[in-house]
Amino acid sequence: MTAEFALDDFPTGLVVTTLEDREILFANQYFYQVSQQEPQSGARIGLVFTAASKIVIESFVMPMLLHQGYCAEIQLTLETKAAEPVPVLVNARIVDNGNRLIYWVISTAQQRDSLYQELVNLRNDLELRAEKLEVLSQTDELTGLLNRRAFVSRATTLIKQALRHKLPYSFFMIDIDHFKQINDQHGHDVGDEVLHKVGQLLAKNSRENDVLARIGGEEFAIITLNQSSESPIQFAEKLLSMIRAEKIQGIDVTVSLGLAISAKASFEQLYKGADILLYEAKNQGRDRLVWRDIDNN
Ligand code: GH3
Ligand code: MG
Ligand code: MG
Repeated sequence: MTAEFALDDFPTGLVVTTLEDREILFANQYFYQVSQQEPQSGARIGLVFTAASKIVIESFVMPMLLHQGYCAEIQLTLETKAAEPVPVLVNARIVDNGNRLIYWVISTAQQRDSLYQELVNLRNDLELRAEKLEVLSQTDELTGLLNRRAFVSRATTLIKQALRHKLPYSFFMIDIDHFKQINDQHGHDVGDEVLHKVGQLLAKNSRENDVLARIGGEEFAIITLNQSSESPIQFAEKLLSMIRAEKIQGIDVTVSLGLAISAKASFEQLYKGADILLYEAKNQGRDRLVWRDIDNN
């Protein structure tokens, strides 16, 4: 098969320049179309690039060409006659046929750029959603506190930290008294309000490193390292009196509190200990604290 082939038919910009001053000796149609330039004798290739790209050519492309003879996939920006920026991808190499010339391939990269941008946007969006999901999966919707699952995970981490630093730690199990009655007498919505408010009061009074959660219907838990001047017993008494003093939705709300203190118990042992102590507090008449150092009996 014989056919005519022409450089003007290539769907990419082909340019040949001198090595010394990058004077254009040849450029195909595509190059002139994209740059919206007219062929012009003595014109240099820098003419069609933005000021920033000119600097890249002189300070990066040229040294690389001189050093290794070629330079591939450089992202530059053309500036059309109408001052429109056009992102392009440039490959260049030095060809030596007696006198040294630079052969340039210049392809527009607009579509590639917009596809890439779309991918970046999509990824950012997914990351944002994943973060939101992560927060949601750890949060109790009604109170905004941690949920049970997140509590178990954070409490376990805190206990490991405590063991490492040989610090005792405390588990507070807090249960609203006669909550079923509150629901029955005032309705489920008021019950929800009470849960929300108790959650807020506990949050307001706990410290930054405490792990506070709603672990069940009307049950809250706090795990702390015993490192403040306030003893865990004082802290527990403060929580009790603070809730006692507050009228929530016009209702006198009280809580019972089981407090287990240890310096070696596992999360499960501590949880079980606090649960038993809470049960004792209920049996002894509610609105009170029952505590124990569970390492010493
Ligand atoms: P006690 O003093 O022994 O703890 O009695 P109590 O009534 O608080 O305990 P009980 O376990 O008998 O009842 C708890 C009630 O909490 C029953 C349940 O309907 C209610 N409850 C659980 N989750 C929610 C909730 O999300 N919203 C509301 N409004 N009520 C809830
Ligand atoms: Mg309960
Ligand atoms: Mg209760």
